[in-house]
Amino acid sequence: MRHARRRLVASGVTVLRDVCAEVQAGSVRLQGGALVACEAAIVATGADAPRWLRASGLALDERGFVLTGPTLQSTSHASVFAAGDVATRDDAPHAKSGVYAVRAGPPLALNLRRATAGGVLQAYRPQRRTLNLVSGGGRRAIVSWGGLSAEGRWAWWWKDRIDREFIARYAGAGPRPAADPTGPATDPSAGS
Ligand SMILES: Cc1cc2nc3c(=O)[nH]c(=O)nc-3n(C[C@H](O)[C@H](O)[C@H](O)COP(=O)(O)OP(=O)(O)OC[C@H]3O[C@@H](n4cnc5c(N)ncnc54)[C@H](O)[C@@H]3O)c2cc1C
Repeated sequence: MRHARRRLVASGVTVLRDVCAEVQAGSVRLQGGALVACEAAIVATGADAPRWLRASGLALDERGFVLTGPTLQSTSHASVFAAGDVATRDDAPHAKSGVYAVRAGPPLALNLRRATAGGVLQAYRPQRRTLNLVSGGGRRAIVSWGGLSAEGRWAWWWKDRIDREFIARYAGAGPRPAADPTGPATDPSAGS
């Protein structure tokens, strides 16, 4: 956060922590009513749960996301599976980001196949922390791991390499053949 704020200020960005109520041409209106003039507004939002979930009867966390357990099943409805931003692991809460969503994909697919084929579901444990790399412009990036963070050109090169390798894995990839539902588990760590 310290690095990100410094980088934003150095780039001429005014950082406001207020809630944005409306974006207009040339200004933003804050929740408190103030109208702030700007050349361009960048509004930082987090993940939000779909409203319809509230009426679904599924067990939800306090923010309206589907509560799931180790097998990615809803804690209230065993026939409902959820992973990624829409889900909150009751037993192992973690941030909502693409890294967690991608890595939950293979175990989710495996358990969906096993559930329909009558196999034994596999517990999936998400990693406790993730490597975060944020490009800051000018070929510099901020890296954070747990409570540690740093910023520099080397971090940008690191991020660029990881991103290119990830995209290359999917470039030109056709549909994958379905695995044996009762066979060995796919390696969840194979995600990005
Ligand atoms: C601008 C931006 C940048 C980001 N950068 C990063 C990053 O660098 N690294 C990182 O780790 N994470 C990043 N994230 C977060 C990451 O994109 C999400 O955590 C990730 O996409 C979550 O994946 P998901 O499959 O759970 O949900 P999503 O990717 O949101 O996919 C949900 C899909 O379901 C569809 N859908 C929704 N409702 C319905 C419905 N009722 N019926 C049918 N389909 C429906 C949606 O259209 C969407 O296609 C970023 C997010 C944003 C917005």
